[in-house]
Amino acid sequence: MPETLDPELRRALADRLRFYNELGIYDFYRRAVPNAAPSTDDSAPALLTFDSKDDMTPRRAAAAPVATDDNLLQVVAPKPEQSESDPAKALKIIREDLGDCTRCVLHTQGRKQIVFGVGNPKTDLMFIGEAPGADEDQQGEPFVGRAGQLLTNMIKAMGLSREQVYIANIIKCRPPGNRTPEREECETCSPFLMRQIAAIKPKVIVALGAVAAKTLLAMNSSMAQLRGHWYDFRPAGAKSNDPNWTGAKLAVTYHPAFLLRDPRQKGEAWKDLQMVMKELGLKPPPKSAP
Ligand code: URA
Repeated sequence: MPETLDPELRRALADRLRFYNELGIYDFYRRAVPNAAPSTDDSAPALLTFDSKDDMTPRRAAAAPVATDDNLLQVVAPKPEQSESDPAKALKIIREDLGDCTRCVLHTQGRKQIVFGVGNPKTDLMFIGEAPGADEDQQGEPFVGRAGQLLTNMIKAMGLSREQVYIANIIKCRPPGNRTPEREECETCSPFLMRQIAAIKPKVIVALGAVAAKTLLAMNSSMAQLRGHWYDFRPAGAKSNDPNWTGAKLAVTYHPAFLLRDPRQKGEAWKDLQMVMKELGLKPPPKSAP
């Protein structure tokens, strides 16, 4: 018989676990409870075994894993890469865990391949976009189409190369017709991105466009409101193995695809990137002779 918890108590417990997660506390132990009904699952502490799916309060942040009855244990359990100090190896573990993912509907909607992320696992700087498009789906690498070429040029203008930074997206599979990802797709996929961020431990994250910014920050503000500020970002539900890494600073800029449609905004985007360069102590490369 699964253990039945009062719905109110269950909700309060889920909220409390999420709160501890956000503080960076992941390991929980249960004191033996006399006369408690045994769990059907030997691997799960009985306190965390629920028998119905009705009333977990979802998180507001789409980026954060939603603790449902089914996945509450996964949310709080230490992730396998947490004991790996080499970010490249940690990313490999996360990629293996993702597998040939069928967690959301996108695997049935024409995706060719999962687009995990690319770049230097030891970088200080991550760029996060929205979702793979047709070129990315074809090549298995984020930002390789027209918008990608512009992003590559933006990175070069900062005095860096694509190989020196890490590039990923909120979701890893192409939505059909390049539609905006659904909230559920973001919620299902973004825990893997959170783990990538925790493994890489960047100093700075640049959110490219409104979908990335709003998902990462769980804020529904306009781009005008989101740009030009620094945000403290901690990957919800994922823990770095470095106790000294307390999170990244996050800045928001326009999505390169938007800049292709409205090139007049490139100057504004350059202001955002200069803010990032100042933070990282980067100087633009000397102008090459005409
Ligand atoms: N747009 C994105 O947001 N990500 C990509 O990888 C490509 C285009």
